[in-house]
Amino acid sequence: MKADIERLVRQHGLLACFECGKCTASCPLGELFGDLDFGHTPRGIVEKALADADLVTGDAIWYCLTCDVCTKGCPCGVRLRDFVEALRRLAVQAGHDAHGVRCRLCGKYFIPDTTLKLLVGKLLGQVEPGRVAAPEYLWMCPRCRRRHFAHQARRGAPG
Ligand code: SF4
Ligand code: SF4
Repeated sequence: MKADIERLVRQHGLLACFECGKCTASCPLGELFGDLDFGHTPRGIVEKALADADLVTGDAIWYCLTCDVCTKGCPCGVRLRDFVEALRRLAVQAGHDAHGVRCRLCGKYFIPDTTLKLLVGKLLGQVEPGRVAAPEYLWMCPRCRRRHFAHQARRGAPG
């Protein structure tokens, strides 16, 4: 596992980080999750990774929304979004998937629970009171969701 993380650190350019903090300053997580500590910010994740901290079993890697703003703004070419996603895949493979939501249809991991909770909160906040419960399709991976909608469309098609 340690060797895998070191390989990912190198592959995603984390060794080039010179600690400017631009990634954390531009990341939307601070605004969305007001109580996030430094260890959950992009800069904090880079620091933990470079210090050999165990990122796979903790929850720090499960907050990122994969917007990629940090990567676009990084002056050193650190690809943090891709690094976090690779770590998540590693964590799921190793069974550390308490924060990974699996598709209700195919059973594959597809989204962090923090992102799903955020989506449900935003969507339900915009729905008229009493009209809709949390939409079922939110618990499906994109592939199963497409199949589900295609199936429904075929059933509803005339003839
Ligand atoms: S923006 Fe890039 S160089 Fe600056 S702290 Fe973040 S990862 Fe490091
Ligand atoms: S990709 Fe993740 S860590 Fe980077 S700015 Fe977006 S939410 Fe923050």
